[in-house]
Amino acid sequence: MTEPSVVADPKVIAGLDAYKALPAAQQPTWYSEEALELSRKELSVLPPLVFAGEVDRLRDRLADAANGNAFLLQGGDCAETFADATADRIRNRVKTLLQMSVVLMYGSSLPVIKMGRMAGQFAKPRSNNDETRNGVTLPAYRGDAVNGYDFTAESRLNDPKRLVQAYHTSASTLNLVRAFTTGGFADLRSVHDWNKGFTDNPANARYESLAKEIDRAISFMESAGVNFDGLSSTEFYVSHEGLLFDYDRPLTRIDSRTGTPYVTSGHFIWIGERTRQLDGAHVDFLSRVRNPIGVKLGPSSQPQDVRDLIEKLDPKREPGRLTFITRMGAGKIREEMPKLVEAVKGTGANPLWITDPMHGNGITTKNGYKSRRFDDVMDEVRGFFEVHKAAGTFPGGIHIELTGDDVAECLGGSDVIDEAALEERYESLCDPRLNHMQSLELSFLVSEMLANRK
Ligand code: PEP
Ligand code: MN
Repeated sequence: MTEPSVVADPKVIAGLDAYKALPAAQQPTWYSEEALELSRKELSVLPPLVFAGEVDRLRDRLADAANGNAFLLQGGDCAETFADATADRIRNRVKTLLQMSVVLMYGSSLPVIKMGRMAGQFAKPRSNNDETRNGVTLPAYRGDAVNGYDFTAESRLNDPKRLVQAYHTSASTLNLVRAFTTGGFADLRSVHDWNKGFTDNPANARYESLAKEIDRAISFMESAGVNFDGLSSTEFYVSHEGLLFDYDRPLTRIDSRTGTPYVTSGHFIWIGERTRQLDGAHVDFLSRVRNPIGVKLGPSSQPQDVRDLIEKLDPKREPGRLTFITRMGAGKIREEMPKLVEAVKGTGANPLWITDPMHGNGITTKNGYKSRRFDDVMDEVRGFFEVHKAAGTFPGGIHIELTGDDVAECLGGSDVIDEAALEERYESLCDPRLNHMQSLELSFLVSEMLANRK
């Protein structure tokens, strides 16, 4: 590793490890301390996955969104898996996000910040440490960065070698994402191509007609002499839940330009609903790094929590630093969210507010699947827009669990997925995701809401 040209204050370095003295929720019990130490050492000398300058640029973009001048689209799997880090699956997710962003951009006339729950989303918080099936108890599945999904003692072993595999899988995923988004694939003049390869459905057809309008607009502008070379690539950011200290801490590095610390395993890191304790390890650790930080806010969140989180995570009131991701549930958002939005007023902070309409709307179907209803998801988004309209604040983005594949995990949508379909095409190892069609459909509905705000 090259020596930083600007040396960090030793207190800054020591501060990065202050979390070790604090209660850290949701950490795996690894099978071997020695194996863990080897993995941490290895991660600490591997190259960073992202560059601090990109992280700074993202913070500026998020500041634009907080001011109502951009919209954040954050989406991807609940949990990425090593097996699904294939070219086809990564391409389908990127294409889906690109399509959604075009739809959102077209409706809102705002720049859309594209961000994957990708290239690092390999660890999951769980309600229980263990899982029991037919009288056999094994450690719960905590994501591929910790253990395997198969219900055998061997697979469920919490193995620190997986942390290194998560790094390499993230690196190859990010490499392909960067190739797609800067190598010509994301050129706005290819809007039609992003629709290819997906099964025909009503959302695709609607997308095609929008793509035709975009083509016409581009041809018109080109004939008027406008140069569209700027359209040939797009910024694309990656994010994950900052859950495992044994992954994110060794990948936290001192920026040679400024002597300040950045988590370099992703551009944007969020703190989950189960780990946002004010005096806990996660909030402390992430308060000390320069990345833009998200915090999930569930229905039990109180105005004082919001004010305390602002003090702790954004003491300097830095534009773009803090994003609140509300995940209330469709039945609660209109009641629980207004007081949180009001709580910010007078603090001098200007956080970005985005909605996660997935995690408050879980159900178990009669045939035993973890699912979500598309109508509930949409209703929560609608509630999110209503609350912001009433408060005079900006609904700045959406956080969605989705895949580009033709799975059946969430119920409903205009090409209706019913409970029987779940038995055929349910693939998620964790939470249910919107499939390609449902994702496009959602983006059309959100795009209309953005257009109607004006
Ligand atoms: C998640 O984003 O997958 C998640 C676990 O969310 P939450 O922390 O909001 O429950
Ligand atoms: Mn999830």
